[in-house]
Amino acid sequence: MKLAELGEFGFIERLRRLVAEHESLRQGIGDDCAVFVPPPGQLLLTTTDMLIEQIHFRRDWADFRRLGRKSVAVNVSDIAAMGGTPRTLYLGLAIPADITVEDLDLFAAGFLESAASYGAVLAGGDTCRSPGPLIVSVTAEGTVAEAELIRRKGARTGDTLYVSGTLGDSALALRLLQSGKEPDPFLARRHHDPEARTGLGRALAAAGAATAMIDLSDGLLGDVQHILDASGVGARVNIDDLPLSPSFHGALRQDPALLELTWGGGEDYELLLTVPPERESLLPAIARTHGVPLTRIGTITPPDDGLTLRDSRGLLRATSLRGFNHFDGRP
Ligand code: ADP
Ligand code: MG
Repeated sequence: MKLAELGEFGFIERLRRLVAEHESLRQGIGDDCAVFVPPPGQLLLTTTDMLIEQIHFRRDWADFRRLGRKSVAVNVSDIAAMGGTPRTLYLGLAIPADITVEDLDLFAAGFLESAASYGAVLAGGDTCRSPGPLIVSVTAEGTVAEAELIRRKGARTGDTLYVSGTLGDSALALRLLQSGKEPDPFLARRHHDPEARTGLGRALAAAGAATAMIDLSDGLLGDVQHILDASGVGARVNIDDLPLSPSFHGALRQDPALLELTWGGGEDYELLLTVPPERESLLPAIARTHGVPLTRIGTITPPDDGLTLRDSRGLLRATSLRGFNHFDGRP
């Protein structure tokens, strides 16, 4: 069915009927504003991320259901990175004329099932026609107790750098798609349907385990650098310690140059955190409870050291975001 047959308000009403009541929402879809009641004493976290066709996704690679799921995950991942609990989501859609109601139903199904899996509710949004690409703009709100808030600043010399999950899977899937190859189901899921580490982020925050945290969207080194800039420290990252999935290992055996995707590739949506030595003993139990490995990948050093990488040959190479471009394509 053409969206024109349903109309903007028909679409919104269709969406509204699919959304369940939520304890923290006094008013959801259907008034001029949503009315959100944060739990007493908690801080409100707000974040926005856009997904633009041809920039962030291609319709011939991503089905609408997974696009809906991903647009939720990339937003709640930012809430997870601050130690928060996701609560509400706002969905801005700019829709080109060739998108059908069936496409949007699939998108909404993916969006709503993903939102529910993180305990968040769709509380509002805006719906417009797009003369160009499909644009999905999501805003997420979450809450966190002030004492449990984890920011990018706070890392101290002597802390250990940890990362959750595995690195480079999403970037490898994208690399394969770009060269006309089909990623295996694991890699495809890591790229098209990433899982935000909300449970893990909450547990780390509740335990007071991290001095700084960020979610990995821009590539490991870029995001390490964000923590270093905010905290005024340096870091040494051991490339040999970066956690890799079996699928990634398999690809690496064919082409060792792919290793660069583990530190330079984006969209991992894993958590990167700094942990003081006396807190490290908390991590194994948290990792086990949430079924996500937490791997030690380096140490926080004095600011003058900058960001350095140790590779398999034992070299210590000074790098920066700009510097690391020099590595591109090198094994
Ligand atoms: P207004 O013109 O007052 O901004 P709208 O007609 O845009 O109101 O929206 C009516 C209601 O529908 C509001 O509650 C708004 O948040 C909600 N809404 C509109 N588009 C979406 C969407 N894509 N997803 C969720 N809610 C939406
Ligand atoms: Mg509006």
